[in-house]
Amino acid sequence: MDEYATTPDAKNENEVAFEGALRPSNFKEVIGRKAEKRSLEIMIESAKKRDAAVDHILFHGPPGLGKTTFAYVIAKELGYTLHATSGSVIEKAGDLAAILTSLEPYSVLFIDEIHRLKRTIEEILYPAMEDNVLDIVIGKGPNAKTLRIDLPKFTIIGATTKLSMLSAPLRDRFGMNFRLDFYEENELTELVKQKAKMMSIGIDDSAAAEIAKRARMTARIAIRILKRVRDLATVGNKDTIDIDTTREALELLDIDEHGLNRTDRAILVSLIDSFKGRPVGLGTLAASISEEPETVETVYEPFLLKKGFIQRTNRGRQITDKAEEVYRRLGST
Ligand code: ADP
Repeated sequence: MDEYATTPDAKNENEVAFEGALRPSNFKEVIGRKAEKRSLEIMIESAKKRDAAVDHILFHGPPGLGKTTFAYVIAKELGYTLHATSGSVIEKAGDLAAILTSLEPYSVLFIDEIHRLKRTIEEILYPAMEDNVLDIVIGKGPNAKTLRIDLPKFTIIGATTKLSMLSAPLRDRFGMNFRLDFYEENELTELVKQKAKMMSIGIDDSAAAEIAKRARMTARIAIRILKRVRDLATVGNKDTIDIDTTREALELLDIDEHGLNRTDRAILVSLIDSFKGRPVGLGTLAASISEEPETVETVYEPFLLKKGFIQRTNRGRQITDKAEEVYRRLGST
């Protein structure tokens, strides 16, 4: 079974389209996240009453936990268009200028992976976010001139999995900053039931709970598992997903009883077996399992830390007693 099925970040085109179809369109459909929804509802209502654009908002946290979802819901609740882009595709100052000058009043600009914006591009954002102006430098050297263009009132929603990579001036320009944490199992159970309904298939309570338990506390993973279970149910001519089909699909996906996939387990095996329980630097750990350090840090590590399977010490990443107990058998495989 391919690894992408159980990691929360790598999105392919089909999946983006599919996620779009399953995305909540209003706050009511957003499961959990009570405190965030309440703050955002107040912000939106206040902005509407004041005829102002909503303050710029930053969402951060591991992938698959609802950052993009919130951006879309906020735009829908406001009744304005959402323009979506990503920090990694804005290469030149002109790219950003083109986006900013095409915004309609009050619209929402969603910048995914905002930590990937180059510093020179970030600097164009500062006056745009603060004073709704765009300063463009024309020409070079002593003859260079700055042209100031007024922009409409608009809202930037930024999303990042790496808050520490965001510069302080950019971070400070967001009026609200939300950390989206992992979901509780009961929230994911509800989410699985909601998505099954949207996919027009029935699901038993025990099956929904089992998927929630094994989904790395992550909405995107729960949806991916649900899709695979749905496939298996469809092939078996079942119109309701039951626990047996769910367990069979989880086995095919190679997800263990703690919700860990092959890469998670490889990390633990490496820490136990190759590094003999000693702390190890991120780069060395990533190299030992042939992964990018950034992927280990943003995709795998947060969940392993949350589960208490690894710890971050000032000398590097280290296995915990808890993980050694649970996974000792893996070390000798
Ligand atoms: P992120 O942007 O943090 O990587 P997304 O917002 O794309 O994550 O969420 C991944 C998927 O999970 C989407 O299909 C979305 O519909 C679903 N999802 C995430 N959070 C919720 C939620 N609170 N309620 C309902 N669906 C959610």
